[in-house]
Amino acid sequence: MTDLRGRTVIVTGGARGIGAETARVAAGSGARVVLTDVREEEGRALAGELGGDARFVRHDVTSEDDWREVVDFAAATFGRVDGLVNNAGISGGSHLLEEQSAEAFRRVLDIDLTGVFLGMRAVIPAMRENGGGSIVNISSAAGLMGLPLTAGYGAAKWGVRGLTKLGAVELGAARIRVNSVHPGMIHTPMTAHVGIERGEGKYPNTPMGRVGEPREIADAVAFLLSDAASYVTGAELAVDGGWTTGPTLRPTLRPIEENR
Ligand code: NAD
Repeated sequence: MTDLRGRTVIVTGGARGIGAETARVAAGSGARVVLTDVREEEGRALAGELGGDARFVRHDVTSEDDWREVVDFAAATFGRVDGLVNNAGISGGSHLLEEQSAEAFRRVLDIDLTGVFLGMRAVIPAMRENGGGSIVNISSAAGLMGLPLTAGYGAAKWGVRGLTKLGAVELGAARIRVNSVHPGMIHTPMTAHVGIERGEGKYPNTPMGRVGEPREIADAVAFLLSDAASYVTGAELAVDGGWTTGPTLRPTLRPIEENR
């Protein structure tokens, strides 16, 4: 099991889905968790479920004031900030590029990209004070390829991947590691409307033939937060059942005799 004892970790968008599972895994690995979200009721309920060393803070990731409050709260409550999981995000819906409104495009960028930038910037002083830290930015498979119908989302997730790289370069000497995680299709409230079915063979778009579970992302995040990843920075970890490795030909793949 990943060891996060003695660490204080902030998880944004922690009220449900991947963020909630990340908060559970981090707490289960011994971390003190500050989970944040705009969804107060679900966030408070989860913090209560996790027990003594978990707290909920209402937090909109697009607000600089909120970010100051969250970091101050974590430092005041637990004495330090060791980890940040920039997980909060919206999909922005599915639109063809030519039909995407500028307003919707800007909104996704504000939450999914500017929110990540604000978070990275907000925790750097506290992490420098500790002599190091780990920032995990949740990008997407859509940040590794051109996924149709995701103009704003795809642009934001590619941006998150880029911010991660430059963050790793700027912060390496301060022993602050910065990595991105790229989930494929994961079963969460965000993807509920897509009507995905869980289970082996139910999702032939990926080589593994199934959608992923939030726990499979949370475990990867916990690894990157921990000392087990002490020499990992600037990496992009795809947790996507092989989706971004290339076109999935599985249904049509069969041996073909050589033409002599
Ligand atoms: P979700 O919708 O279940 O959870 C996202 C959480 O973020 C929600 O609790 C929501 O309230 C919160 N949030 C939204 N806007 C916010 C804001 N402005 N400030 C604070 N919190 C805010 O989604 P999920 O599937 O758990 O996704 C989590 C992350 O993983 C997102 O960044 C998403 O883009 C990414 N991701 C998800 C998938 C997938 O298939 N589910 C795939 C790739 C990447």
